[in-house]
Amino acid sequence: MAKTTSNLNCCIATSNNKYWRKTCIDNINLAIKLHNIKRIVVLEHSNCKAYDTTYNNIRNNEKEYHISNITKCIKMLKRIYPNIIISGFYLDNIQDEKIV
Ligand SMILES: [Zn+2]
Repeated sequence: MAKTTSNLNCCIATSNNKYWRKTCIDNINLAIKLHNIKRIVVLEHSNCKAYDTTYNNIRNNEKEYHISNITKCIKMLKRIYPNIIISGFYLDNIQDEKIV
């Protein structure tokens, strides 16, 4: 079985909600402890309702926000987990894209 955790929301890198960020990091730490994960996959998706409530009027350039947040998120995670492989994807209705 692949030892991967996924579905991280990149808002952990940019969110002002310290509890949300701590919850995400706690989950990763638990996955490392219980499953000895070797890889983290950050997934962002288009038409995200969380982005609608976090940012205003981004429908025309939503992808740019996702790419920026994926990049920030992975940079932050690599500082915390230097020995884990971390990659990020933007999932879209038309075409998925590997960002990092
Ligand atoms: Zn979403």
